[in-house]
Amino acid sequence: MTDGPRVAVVGGGIAGALLAWRLSGHRVDVYTGPVRSDATAASGGLVRAFEADEAACRDALASLTELLGDARLREWAQYRESGSLYRLPAGDGETAAARVALIEQALPGSAEVIEPPHPLLAALGEPAVAVVERQAGNISPHALRNAALAHSGATVCPEPVAAVVADGVILADGQGRDYDAVVVSAGAWTPKLLAASGLPDPALRTKQIQYSVFPRAGSVDRPFVDDITGLYGRTFADGTLLLGLPGQRWDVDPSALTVDAPLATRVRQVAADVLGDRHTGAPDRIVVAADCYHGDPGLRLRPVPGGGSLFTFTGGSGGAAKTAVAASRTAASALLTRIDA
Ligand SMILES: Cc1cc2nc3c(=O)[nH]c(=O)nc-3n(C[C@H](O)[C@H](O)[C@H](O)COP(=O)(O)OP(=O)(O)OC[C@H]3O[C@@H](n4cnc5c(N)ncnc54)[C@H](O)[C@@H]3O)c2cc1C
Repeated sequence: MTDGPRVAVVGGGIAGALLAWRLSGHRVDVYTGPVRSDATAASGGLVRAFEADEAACRDALASLTELLGDARLREWAQYRESGSLYRLPAGDGETAAARVALIEQALPGSAEVIEPPHPLLAALGEPAVAVVERQAGNISPHALRNAALAHSGATVCPEPVAAVVADGVILADGQGRDYDAVVVSAGAWTPKLLAASGLPDPALRTKQIQYSVFPRAGSVDRPFVDDITGLYGRTFADGTLLLGLPGQRWDVDPSALTVDAPLATRVRQVAADVLGDRHTGAPDRIVVAADCYHGDPGLRLRPVPGGGSLFTFTGGSGGAAKTAVAASRTAASALLTRIDA
């Protein structure tokens, strides 16, 4: 391939890999950096359509619908249907019903609003309202990233990028490479890379995400989010149980994360309250990683102010595994339009 614009994608997580795959047929180099534990490798991999926020729900629904309709993507992602349960506070019934109506248009028979008494609510106490999705499930974001990269036709460059400029990238040894467009899709490393390039973006921040893995699942037979306590969880194929709570460690260095011990303790306490005593034992392991958050959350292609043909494709804000399939399609088409203009 000798013609056409040259594109650099910096970052080979699920976002960068799927973007490269969407750009198949074009001249794309993907800079993957050193092998390390990124958000894609650590991700819980829960994919569902329901989100209380309408824009987030539309993003997740578009991705899930495309995933379910494409056998190749399901295989790449190792999709397993598990269903999901999302408990909401009293008073959110109208929001739940509106989002379920949206989901039902694309995936008829998949979602419903339930209220107590209902057998599915027993494990989570007595919620005011909950959304149950049948066609939600688990994927391996790591497997999907690897398959997308392998099928993208892109050139994979393992060198880490030290800085980006309007028309190219600069490697650690000072070598510059020219491109017609550069997309920084380096997840939680994005804010630091932009700052090192003299192009800080105050809308992008990093946040640590942490979950604990417990030896046995007990009664948790489907992934759940409990919006009232913040507790979320899912059972892995080997029977171990992931449980987590939102943390508050902002602006972390993604290469130097440590376990938030008080948060891990709170997970055990809240799990005991919500699920019962059988989940209060010590976890087998605690998984820590970081993600990139945007003030207007969502995995989207955004121009870097003052950056010429420089863009970011990040900002999934802790949820890009469930939106990356559709977001990468939209981003690739927006990028090609910008380059051609
Ligand atoms: C613990 C955890 C659990 C999660 N669970 C879920 C879930 O259940 N469902 C859901 O929808 N979402 C979940 N998420 C969110 C989702 O996994 C992330 O939003 C998504 O993986 C982000 O992908 P990414 O490609 O943007 O970033 P990353 O996966 O972090 O990839 C960024 C890549 O850029 C590379 N890189 C960095 N700097 C450079 C450089 N200078 N040069 C070259 N390469 C570089 C890194 O090595 C890395 O491979 C979770 C996230 C975490 C952390």
